[in-house]
Amino acid sequence: MSAVAVLSASQVGTFSSCSLKWHFRYREKAPEERRSVALVIGSAVDVAIKTGVHLLRSGEVRVEALETERVFQAAWDAELASNKIPIDWGKKGQDGQREMALAVTRAFLDAEDLPERVARIRSLDVRFELPVVDPVTGLEVPGLRLLGFLDAIERTPEGLRPLDYKTAASRAGYDEQSLSTHLQGSLYSWALHQLHPEDATDEMAFQIGLKLKMPMLEDRVVTLGESARRRALLTVLHAHRAMDLGVAFPQPSFLCGGCGYQRRCAGWQDQAGPPLALDPFARAVC
Ligand code: SF4
Repeated sequence: MSAVAVLSASQVGTFSSCSLKWHFRYREKAPEERRSVALVIGSAVDVAIKTGVHLLRSGEVRVEALETERVFQAAWDAELASNKIPIDWGKKGQDGQREMALAVTRAFLDAEDLPERVARIRSLDVRFELPVVDPVTGLEVPGLRLLGFLDAIERTPEGLRPLDYKTAASRAGYDEQSLSTHLQGSLYSWALHQLHPEDATDEMAFQIGLKLKMPMLEDRVVTLGESARRRALLTVLHAHRAMDLGVAFPQPSFLCGGCGYQRRCAGWQDQAGPPLALDPFARAVC
C-alpha cells in the first residue's frame, strides 16, 4: 500500500461536516443505502453546463444554436444510467425533479450574458494533485497530497481565478461571511496559486443555480486571501491527523437528510468500540 495519502477537498469537507459519514464513504468504501436527489441533480447539471460551455468554446455550436434541453437530457440520462443505488426522489417525484434540473440548467446555459461568461474561461475541468504545504513552516508535508478538480479557470483583467459551478436549494452558506472561509474554495485558490504563481489572484468565483420556485443563476465573487488559504491548509492537516487517529462519530446536522448512511448511522452505537487509548497510561473511555 502506498505511504502517500491523497485527500480531496471534498473528502476533507465531508470529514469536517461528519467524520462518521467520511468513515463509511472513504475508509470502509461502503455503498450508500440511497442517493440523495440533490446529488443527482447537481451532477447532471454540472455535466450539462460543462458540455454546453465546451460546445461553445470549441466553436462546434454557436450560442443561438445551443440546444439546452438536448444537452441536459443527455447528461440526465447518463447520470441515471450510471447510478446503481435507489434514488430518493422526494415529494416532487422523478419527473418533477427532472423539470427542476432542466430549469436550473437553463438558468446557466440560457443566460443572456452566456457568451461573456464563456469568453472568460481559460480552461475547463482542471485536475490537480499537489503536495500539501504546511502553512506554518512553508515545507511540504511528507506523504500527503491534495487532489481536486477546478470546474474552470477564468481570466479577468486582474489575472486568473477558479470558478465553481454549484446547485443549491437556498442561499444559505452563500453569504459573504460564509464564503470568506469557504473550505473547498480556499483550497482551490491555494491550488491555483501553486499552478500559476505569477497570474493567480485571490478571487474565487461561484455560479450558483438556485433550485427555487423560480430557478435562477446567481454570481458570487469572493476574496480568499492568504489567511483563508492558511486556514484551509491547516484544516487539511488537522483533519488528516484525526483521520489517522481513527476519529469517527456521528455529527448530526441539517445534512443528515441527504446522507446515504442513515440506517448504519442509527445503529452505530451497537457496533462501535471505545476510542483507542493513545498511551499506556490513558484509560479508554467506556
Ligand atoms: S446521518 Fe448524519 S450523523 Fe449520521 S453519518 Fe450521516 S451525516 Fe453523519
